[in-house]
Amino acid sequence: MSATALVLWNKQLSQQEIDKIIYKAKQWALLHGVQMMPQCSPTTCQCHYAPMTLFPSPVPADVITQAKSLQKHYNYLMHRVANDHEFLENSLKNVVQVDEFTKMLWDIYTEVHTKKPNTQPVSLGLFRNDYMMDVKDSCCTIKGLPASLNLKQIEFNTIASSFAGLSTGIWSVHKYNLSQAGVKFARSQIPENRPAHGLALGLQAAWSHYGVPSACVVFIVQDNETNLMDQKWLEKNLCDIDHNIEVVYSTLLYAAKNCILKDDDTLLLDGKEIAVIYFRNGYSPDHYTCDEVKDIRLTMELSKAIKCPPVNLQLAGCKKIQQELAAPGAVEKYIKDLDICVGIRQTFAGQYSLDKSEEGDKNIEMAMLNPEKFVLKPQREGGGNNFYGEDVRTTLQKIKDSDERNAYILMERIFPWPQKNYLLKEGKDPILRDVISELGIYGVYLGSADTEIYNEVVGHLLRTKSADDNEGGIAAGYATIDSPLLV
Ligand code: ADP
Ligand code: MG
Ligand code: MG
Repeated sequence: MSATALVLWNKQLSQQEIDKIIYKAKQWALLHGVQMMPQCSPTTCQCHYAPMTLFPSPVPADVITQAKSLQKHYNYLMHRVANDHEFLENSLKNVVQVDEFTKMLWDIYTEVHTKKPNTQPVSLGLFRNDYMMDVKDSCCTIKGLPASLNLKQIEFNTIASSFAGLSTGIWSVHKYNLSQAGVKFARSQIPENRPAHGLALGLQAAWSHYGVPSACVVFIVQDNETNLMDQKWLEKNLCDIDHNIEVVYSTLLYAAKNCILKDDDTLLLDGKEIAVIYFRNGYSPDHYTCDEVKDIRLTMELSKAIKCPPVNLQLAGCKKIQQELAAPGAVEKYIKDLDICVGIRQTFAGQYSLDKSEEGDKNIEMAMLNPEKFVLKPQREGGGNNFYGEDVRTTLQKIKDSDERNAYILMERIFPWPQKNYLLKEGKDPILRDVISELGIYGVYLGSADTEIYNEVVGHLLRTKSADDNEGGIAAGYATIDSPLLV
């Protein structure tokens, strides 16, 4: 390990002191359920601490306030978008011509929309709205903070928004670590954060709305899920809220083999009625391994179980939709209060269509001239799919003369506030690094197309990665879990 000493708010810590804090931090993380489980068999279960920063990262308090104050409006906006057939169709019509996965989801959606649009009018969204603090227009710092720091949305997740569980555990770890380092801070600087409880309240609200006390909540998961503990946090919170709500776990494949859709649209798994289907899987092409699995997704969508999310809400989370929402008048179609629209729009980064058109051609030309200023994004989730820097240029060069370009959007690149921290990852030496952070705000929305039943902001996630890494997922191996230290 490097002998670099961390200068923490004017406090010099020796390498020996840092090593001691790291040692204790790992134990504290296990104690607080900040864990991953790479292996579990009937005879052995092995957990280790989740990737995490050693110390919390400074975030201006007004940035968190700004993001949280927008969240209920964002929840509402995305719910409305998901229920606007015309907007979805116009936005995605070119994508589905060339992107097989989006087409598969679109076909499921169309079948439900035309055959049985009202079987279950209520949907549940457990969202995470991700932002970075952009400092590219900031030329200097004032008292250690960048002079201008703009909250910019990276993306809005409508399916399998993860890390609410581990976020619930991490802030206690960071408080402890700072205390171990002898840093003085106010309790309010690391605020309580319990998004797992908030998301569980959403699941409970959906289950109650379904109205059958014996019906269960099914978590759709993948086999050998490393991030199982994050899901268990939700189950635990749901159990604490109401121990009568049964949670069962199923893969899509298991569900395909063991679900029955009754004539009255009730969905049964192993003979048990399902009230709520919570998808922690099903957002990536490789989750749909065979036709049976595709068919079960359609069956689930056609059932009267409440889906979290239904396929239309999953589609609303596409990067293409984010790009279309940035067009003039799009947000204003759904939100009539112009101040709120301005607040939302302030968080939009530049979004550019690459569709075959004169405008699309211009956008491609612009990106090829300055590829380092853009990120090229396909319609994918889960990290590791975007293009940065020189890869933007070479990929655009490859696709610019084909319809394949319709599958992508171009986004202005955000340059987040660089800080320093130790990134702790199981099996790797902790090194003091230049790091950048991404802030996620969790939101819950339950409602039908035009009736709101439940709309809440339920907590935050801070993820931090080495400034050298382009991508950002924790599960994908890039980022670590962090906490904001309000400054
Ligand atoms: P995914 O759905 O796969 O998470 P994202 O749009 O969130 O897709 O991109 C993955 C990661 O790439 C983000 O977590 C972030 O670290 C980085 N990223 C995405 N968009 C930008 C951007 N405009 N500027 C800088 N980094 C970005
Ligand atoms: Mg993301
Ligand atoms: Mg995503």
